Amino acid sequence: MESAITASQVARLWLANALALVGEHEEELGRLDAAAGDGDHGATLVRGLRAANGAVAAADGSVGELLVQAGAAFSDAAGGASGALIGLWITTIGQQLGDGPYDLAVLYEALLSGTNCIARLGKAQPGDKTLLDALTPFLAALQTQVAAGVTLADGWRAALPAAEAGAAATRDMVARRGRSAKLGERSLGHADPGAVSMCYLLQAAADALAGQ
Ligand code: ADP
Ligand code: MG
Repeated sequence: MESAITASQVARLWLANALALVGEHEEELGRLDAAAGDGDHGATLVRGLRAANGAVAAADGSVGELLVQAGAAFSDAAGGASGALIGLWITTIGQQLGDGPYDLAVLYEALLSGTNCIARLGKAQPGDKTLLDALTPFLAALQTQVAAGVTLADGWRAALPAAEAGAAATRDMVARRGRSAKLGERSLGHADPGAVSMCYLLQAAADALAGQ
């Protein structure tokens, strides 16, 4: 790998950064979820990320082992739709990364597998106003960076605006999956909380990959 810190350290940094960033935005995520859901998304994510950080603090292993344990702890503690979906995403990425080492292409493939698992479990596709609307454009942008042969941290950061644009575009979508789908048109005009929080998770990873 390219940075001076180990892959396991990057995984730990990611989870710590994610907890800090999502914690800062807990109320915002709750408000977005209250517009068409039950208002718990910020609290759910913070609970899950605290547990995930706790799990890796007690564990010693490869990047893959750490993420598999983090994903399981996240799902157990977070609960709800996002708990199951994001926990599965983290676990699948861990399974794909295994013992490392990894580069941007390996990370892209792992993320793609994790995202496909979310789509299968949640029976959602892009355009349904879910976290997939941030993840899918991010992956497309990341693939372009892989093809360009840039460094891991630079490639990841360059793909972030695609996730943010994808999350912003959910404002004009009517929810077709999850709790907010029951309220249909009421979800119009508000970004999907899961798409917004996914941007924070991806942003937290950008800093971790840069060793910060
Ligand atoms: P809950 O809906 O159980 O209260 P959260 O509020 O924590 O869970 O998370 C809601 C978010 O989960 C939504 O904004 C959406 O992005 C995501 N989500 C819900 N259901 C699905 C699904 N079937 N597929 C993909 N994402 C989903
Ligand atoms: Mg909710």
